[in-house]
Amino acid sequence: MPYRIPFNRASLAGPEPDYLLQAVANGHLAGDGPFTGRCHTLLQDVLGVPRVLLTTSCTHALEMAALLLDLGPGDEVIVPSFTFVSTANAFALRGARLVFADIRPDTLNIDEQQLERLISPRTRAIVPVHYAGVGCEMDAICAIAARHSVAVVEDNAHGLFGKYRNRWLGTFGALATQSFHETKNFTCGEGGALLINDAQFVERAEIIREKGTNRSRFFRGQVDKYSWVDIGLAVFHYLPLHLSGMGRRFGGKVGDCPVTEAVSDRLVRLPMFGALTGAELDEVVAVVKSATGRST
Ligand SMILES: *Cc1c(COP(=O)(O)O)cnc(C)c1O
Repeated sequence: MPYRIPFNRASLAGPEPDYLLQAVANGHLAGDGPFTGRCHTLLQDVLGVPRVLLTTSCTHALEMAALLLDLGPGDEVIVPSFTFVSTANAFALRGARLVFADIRPDTLNIDEQQLERLISPRTRAIVPVHYAGVGCEMDAICAIAARHSVAVVEDNAHGLFGKYRNRWLGTFGALATQSFHETKNFTCGEGGALLINDAQFVERAEIIREKGTNRSRFFRGQVDKYSWVDIGLAVFHYLPLHLSGMGRRFGGKVGDCPVTEAVSDRLVRLPMFGALTGAELDEVVAVVKSATGRST
């Protein structure tokens, strides 16, 4: 039975229908029209990022990051086991070996204290995910990455306009990615962005994004995304990637990431979006109280 209160519902600010009509009227529906330009400018200006490129998804932006870093067989990438498959899959598609890090019990973000142990001479990138928009410990992560000459790619799918120590999330790594999927804080249905903080990547990123042949490879990658774990529910929470079929191929086994394993066994995600009404909120609270046997 479908739930009466959806997991998320898009919130409209008002001008969207008018903008959609303008986009249709000016003939730039495919992207890179006036509205794409306005989004690029807005994100660049607000975040202070040298170059922002809208993409068709966060997955697409992550795959661009893997290409830009020239990752391939023999390279290792450290990702949290508790994340969406795209965070890992983008790098696996290039042939890189995934090294799964456990998460912190307080923020459910990558545990920065494990990084030194997981880094090897083959490590090329660390991919912190700012879970639920709460910043990872970027001071420690960036210091470790710099010490080992390893790139940082922030998966900021949840964290646009969130901050860590008064600095925008997505501005710490050489590259960062955003999602505008309908389940995220800001949405265009499906979409994403690559934030390019290290200007040496700008030129190639623009070329990669524009070349049709490379794009088809990205789309083949999206098919793989769904074969990573055997569930297609877009609102189920993350399952430990190191215990998935693919994760086990990278050597993952039970006990590798105890916090991830414990959390994913217990986590409940509730409807939370801008357009949630007071009545819906009351209903969610009532259902949770009855399920947990609490009266207050
Ligand atoms: C949703 C999500 C993605 C993928 O976003 P898409 O725009 O759907 O490709 C990647 N990483 C994380 C952490 C996510 O939550």
